[in-house]
Formats: sequence, structure tokens, C-alpha cells
Amino acid sequence: MVRILDLEKYAQNNNIPIMLPDGIEFLLEYIKKNNIQNILEIGTAIGYSAIRMCLLDHNIKVTTIERDEQRYQEALKNIKEFNLEKQINVILDDALSTNITDKFDLIFIDAAKSQYIKFFEKYKVNLKEHGVIVSDNLKFHGLVETPIERIESRNVRGIVRKLNNYIDFLKNNQEFKTTFYDIGDGISISIKNNS
Ligand code: SAH
Ligand code: MG
Repeated sequence: MVRILDLEKYAQNNNIPIMLPDGIEFLLEYIKKNNIQNILEIGTAIGYSAIRMCLLDHNIKVTTIERDEQRYQEALKNIKEFNLEKQINVILDDALSTNITDKFDLIFIDAAKSQYIKFFEKYKVNLKEHGVIVSDNLKFHGLVETPIERIESRNVRGIVRKLNNYIDFLKNNQEFKTTFYDIGDGISISIKNNS
């Protein structure tokens, strides 16, 4: 029998960036407190966060998108182990090209860090009236607070720049009011104005 702890170990051993412990606890609390039932997740990895969310309540449904075939297969396997096939729908695709018409209470953005503005703009139409968008990894392992010239990898510098752009985009967004939380690897919650 596979347990949550096994998924955490698998993720650690295989360098799969699942949510940090206090980050996932914070998200689960938010879902419980606000009675959230329909969730869209961008970035499934091995299904860890989707499984944790669905274990909260039988009425919670998660649609989750993953572009990596191997991770997708691993997620399907894990979801089956937890008997959550009825609650979790995994889509193998690039989230930037998927077409989703359903509306959700919460959209969780946890995929390629350089594409966050694109995910946000594409999927905000999939929010219900009082829906929220949650984003993970805004600190990118603390690198977002590091002076950019001190980051050696050009690739990482690019991601940090993009995340800083995303943070500015959220701060200046007239449509949504965003609160930033220094929890886990940095989490934000964006609530539509007048909702
Ligand atoms: N939410 C998961 C962790 C996701 S890690 C958890 O906490 O358990 C981020 C995942 O997003 C990776 O598996 C990566 O393959 C996927 N990803 C990155 N960009 C994507 C895209 N454009 N479309 C779909 N999946 C993407
Ligand atoms: Mg994450």
C-alpha cells in the first residue's frame, strides 16, 4: 500500500519538486476553510498535491494538467493506489495549449515558472464568480530575493527575472487583488475584485 510518505520520498529521491510541507498544509487549510470543491491544477508532477487535496473530502474534484509523459503515468498509478480516479482527472498536455471550458473555485498554478503570466491570463476565464488563483514557488528556493548578478546560471537568472515580472504583474493587476505569503517556497492568492 502506497502512503503519502512514500510519495514524498519518491519525489525527494527523483528530484520532483512537489509542494513543501508547510506550503501544502497552508493550501489544504485554505481549501477547507473556504469550502472549495472544484480545482484546476497546472502541473501535476506525480499527483502528490492533487491527491492531498482530494483526500480532504469526497466532494473535492481536481482537474490537473501535466506535459511530461513519465510523470503523468506515475501520477495515474498513484491516483489509482489511493482510489481517487473518480475525483482526479489528469490531462497529458501542455497547459498552454489545452482547451478547458469548465469553471473552477480555485486554480493552482504550479508549473513552468517562466510561464506564470501566460497561465494566469489563459485560465482566469475558467474561474467561477468568487474564484481564486493560487501560485506556488514565487521565491524559487530563495533565489527571487538574491541580487540577480549573484546568480551564476543564466537559465536560473532568466527564471528569476520572469518570476519577478509575475510578482509585478500581480501587484499591478487591476482585476485581481493578490496577497503574498512567505510560506513554503512562496505562495500567492489572487482574488477577483468585487467578488
Ligand atoms: N503540483 C505538484 C508539483 C508540480 S511540479 C505537487 O506539488 O505535487 C511542476 C510540474 O509542472 C512538472 O511535473 C512539469 O513537468 C509540469 N509542467 C511544467 N510546465 C508545464 C506546462 N506548460 N504544461 C503542463 N505541465 C507543465
Ligand atoms: Mg511548486
